[in-house]
Amino acid sequence: MTTPILSIIVPCYYEEEVLPSTIQILISLLNEAIIANEASPESYICLVNDGSQDRTWPLIEQHSRKSKYVRGINLSRNFGHQRALLAGLFNSEADVYVSIDADLQDDESKIRDMLRAYADGYDIVYGVRSDRGCDTFFKRSSAALFYGMRSKLGCQTIPNHADFRLMSKRSVEALKQFKEVNLFLRGVIPLLGFPSCSVFYARKTRMAGESKYPLFKMIKFAWDGIINFSEAPLHIILWIGFIGLLGSIAATIYSITQWYLGNIIPGWTSIFLLTCFFGSFNFVFMGVIGLYLGRIFKETKQRPPFIVQQSTH
Ligand code: UDP
Ligand code: MG
Repeated sequence: MTTPILSIIVPCYYEEEVLPSTIQILISLLNEAIIANEASPESYICLVNDGSQDRTWPLIEQHSRKSKYVRGINLSRNFGHQRALLAGLFNSEADVYVSIDADLQDDESKIRDMLRAYADGYDIVYGVRSDRGCDTFFKRSSAALFYGMRSKLGCQTIPNHADFRLMSKRSVEALKQFKEVNLFLRGVIPLLGFPSCSVFYARKTRMAGESKYPLFKMIKFAWDGIINFSEAPLHIILWIGFIGLLGSIAATIYSITQWYLGNIIPGWTSIFLLTCFFGSFNFVFMGVIGLYLGRIFKETKQRPPFIVQQSTH
C-alpha cells in the first residue's frame, strides 16, 4: 500500500483563540507522520469555518498562505458542527480523513495510532474517550443516559465516541449516499459497515474559548441521535394501547362484578368501561398510524439499501 494522503478536517466556530496553536500543533504532527512514512507529503489540514464572524476565517486564510499544509473552506453561514464536518469530508480530496475539534480536546497524538490502524486494513477508526475525568458530573451522567437510551432503543452506538475518527476514502464515498438533513454522524457511521476499530484516549479540557455546545443545542443533538435511528417510541404507543386493552378487559370483569353486587351508583359501569376501552383503542389506532409513519420516515431518509465493500470485477 502506498503512503496515503491524509486530510485532517477541523470544524471551526468562533475559534480565533485556539486556532493559531491548533494549526501549529497539527502541522508538527503532520510532519512527524510524514517523516515516519505514515502519511504522504501531500497531506494537509482542512479547516472549515462554520460561519464565524470573528477572526477565524482571516486566520485560516493567513495560515493557508504561509503553509502548504493548511487549506480552508468558508461556509456561507453557520450550519452546525455536523454539517461543517461533512463540508470538509466532501470537499477535500484524500485517501484517508481524520476529523477532530478545533479546541484539540481530543488527543491529537492518537491520529498516528489511527493511521497505523488504517495501514492494518481498518476503514474506520473510532476515537473513544476512556476517561471523562475532565467533564462535569452533569455532562458525564447525561452522556451515560444518552448512550444507554440509544442502545436500549436498538440504535448502533459506539459509547463515548464523539466525532474524532478516521475514515477511509471508500467509507466517505459510502457516507455520501446518506442524504438525511438532520445529520447525526456518529449514528450513521456504524451503519456503513467496513472493518472498524477503536483507539482510546483521555479527553482534555478546552485550551481556550468556550464550548459552542450549550445545553439546548446538546438536547436537540441528542434528540436527532435517537429519533433519526429508532422507531421504538412509535412502537411504544402501540404497546401502551395493547396493555390498556388488557387492563380494560380486567376492568370489565371488576366493574360488572361490582354492578352485580350492587356496589355502584347507576351509570357508573357504562361510563367507566367506555372510558377504558375508548382510551386504549385510541392508543392502538395511534400506534398503527405510528407504524406507517415510521415506514414513511424511513423512506424519506433514502438511506442506501446496501453498500458494496469490494468486488472482483
Ligand atoms: N462547531 C462548529 N459549528 C457549531 C458549533 C461548533 O463547527 O455550530 C465546532 C467547534 O468549533 C469545535 C467543535 O465543533 O471545533 C466542537 O465544539 P465544542 O468544542 O464547542 O463542543 P464541546 O467540546 O464543548 O462539546
Ligand atoms: Mg470542545
